[in-house]
Amino acid sequence: MRKPFMAGNWKMNLSVEEGVSLALGIKDAVGDYDAVDVAVAPVSVVLPAVAQALKGSRIIVGAQNIHWEQKGAFTGEVSAEILASAGASMVIIGHSERRQFFGETNETVQKKLLAAHRAGLHPIVCVGEQLSERESGRTQAVVRGHVQGAFAAVDRALALKTTVAYEPVWAIGTGVTATPDQAQEVHAFIRTLLADLYDDDLAQTVRIQYGGSVKPDNVKGLMQQPDIDGALVGGASLKVDSFAAIVKFNG
Ligand code: PEP
Repeated sequence: MRKPFMAGNWKMNLSVEEGVSLALGIKDAVGDYDAVDVAVAPVSVVLPAVAQALKGSRIIVGAQNIHWEQKGAFTGEVSAEILASAGASMVIIGHSERRQFFGETNETVQKKLLAAHRAGLHPIVCVGEQLSERESGRTQAVVRGHVQGAFAAVDRALALKTTVAYEPVWAIGTGVTATPDQAQEVHAFIRTLLADLYDDDLAQTVRIQYGGSVKPDNVKGLMQQPDIDGALVGGASLKVDSFAAIVKFNG
């Protein structure tokens, strides 16, 4: 069915040397473990060295953001094509930190999703509600807006090559994880949205990761849920031991 997919979002952490060292450690620990797809997303300037360190391994290297244009007068930005040329094969799009601090909107997420596919990068599209939105009963409305906004211009073939990450903002970096039931409820809802946008087959094929304070001691309960296919991991992806334990959640 859907192969588990664990991705580490290193955020703005680790120098080139530290990133390569972590990548090599992850390669040693899980490089031969093919029950789970594994990805790491370093800072973009660290990415080429990490890609080089992981060359020939099964571990996927991705970026944390892209600009939607291919090239041009966009000072400080990096395009999907340039990241692909630097060794990326995946990209995280619409992370809540980008929505919160850098003006990411459903519209820019949509453009970036198309740009990722244009360059052949596998996108992980993040969706998820803030605490106030959950508390006021708007979780489904927010998640619907994120999913419909992201996929609005994406055809079925490209949607099939996309991963969704449900990341409740209140659980990111806080140590508070959604309970497996809370996460499952939203994951199942996301599948109904995908079924409405495309069809049941696609909804059952696309992988949906959970993200938000995933740790070795809570990953198993989350992964036991029928609609949770993996995790997007921040803090716990910065250490070999914790990330490897998450990848090998099944023992
Ligand atoms: C994230 O950054 O996507 C994330 C889920 O972070 P953390 O695991 O630290 O909550």
